[in-house]
Formats: sequence, C-alpha cells, structure tokens
Amino acid sequence: MMIRHHPNEATLLTYASGGLSTALSTIVATHLGLCPSCRARTENAEKIGGALLSDVEQVAMSASALDLVLARIDNAIPVQPEKTVRHCGHHGLPAPLGDLLPENIDSLRWWPVGPGIRQARLGEGEEAVRLLRISPGRAVPHHSHGGHEMTMIVSGSYTDEIGRFMPGDVADLDPEVSHQPVSDAATDCICVIATDAPLNFTGWVPRLMQSLVRI
Ligand SMILES: [Zn+2]
Repeated sequence: MMIRHHPNEATLLTYASGGLSTALSTIVATHLGLCPSCRARTENAEKIGGALLSDVEQVAMSASALDLVLARIDNAIPVQPEKTVRHCGHHGLPAPLGDLLPENIDSLRWWPVGPGIRQARLGEGEEAVRLLRISPGRAVPHHSHGGHEMTMIVSGSYTDEIGRFMPGDVADLDPEVSHQPVSDAATDCICVIATDAPLNFTGWVPRLMQSLVRI
C-alpha cells in the first residue's frame, strides 16, 4: 500500500494527547496501523508530551489528591481506540476500522444520498462513522465542512482538487476547504468519513438531500 496523503501534524498531536473525538480517532488509529511514518511522528509527539510533563515543577499536593485521581481513573470512559497495530480486520485494514467493517460490505444498510452515491452507518453512538460508496465516475456534491472532517479510502480511489486518494490515504480537511471528490472510473470508491460537525453543501439540491438524510 503506497500512502501519499496523511493526517496533518495538529491532528496527530491532538490524537497523541487523547483530545480527538472517538470517531476521528478511529480513522487516525486505522491509518497509523498502515503508515509507519505517521506512527513514528505520533510516537515522537507522545515522547515530547511525556518529557514536558516530567519537566513540570513539582508542587505540594493536598492529602486527598491521590484518591481524587484514582476515582477519576475508575470512572474514566476510554476514548482512545486501541493504538496497537493488528492486521486482523476485514478488507486488509487494521483495527479499529477493520474490526468495525463486516466481511461482506454489501450486508450493510446502504441508502442513496445522491445520484450514484450511497451511505451506510458503521458503529454506534460517539463511535459512529459513515461509509460513502461512490459509483465509478460519480462526483460527491461540492461541499465544505462546518468542523473537522477526515476521510480515509477503504477501496477504489477518488480525485479532487487536492489530488488522487487511494486506499489508506487520509484527507484531513479544515473547515475552509471546499472540495468535490470524483470516483475514478474503474470500481466503486468506498471511503470512511468522520466529522465533528455536519457538512456544508454549496448547492440547494444537496442541501435539501442533507436535510432529508442527515449527512
Ligand atoms: Zn500517514
């Protein structure tokens, strides 16, 4: 797998610090399982974070501080998906996405969100991500993002204003970036998308579709 597009530095730092949403972390953790260079960058970020913490001047703590910390650990909800690299999932993808995907992708409940475009939901609650399936040669309506959106190609490929995206590639887009991915002509392009805000479509037809199907 030749990966050309990676999460940006700020995203990897936020992931290393545990500050990324669960859905966005699913994409980063899966990409890290495929990409040695991002894995090294993330490990460095973790080391720098650890070194900064160990340099912090020590201060006296209250008698109850340890109990408070232990109580927080007991109540903590794990937000970071497993970082260990395991190439055991479906479609040649490591965890966590490889474990979320069914063996037969057609068994998911796909519904149309535009001409030649279908969507399926994967996972539950905060973990939920979306799969987009774009028929060959079809375009996703032009849109920008209200917040942080990350897309990773699962199979097939698409091309947009930024370049060509192949399996394992991640599009890590700022809210200002408006783009229109077009699936390359050979097969369906299936990609996984996580957002922390809904997409902003620029045309009225996709906006109407969006209000009906909540993408
Ligand atoms: Zn990478």
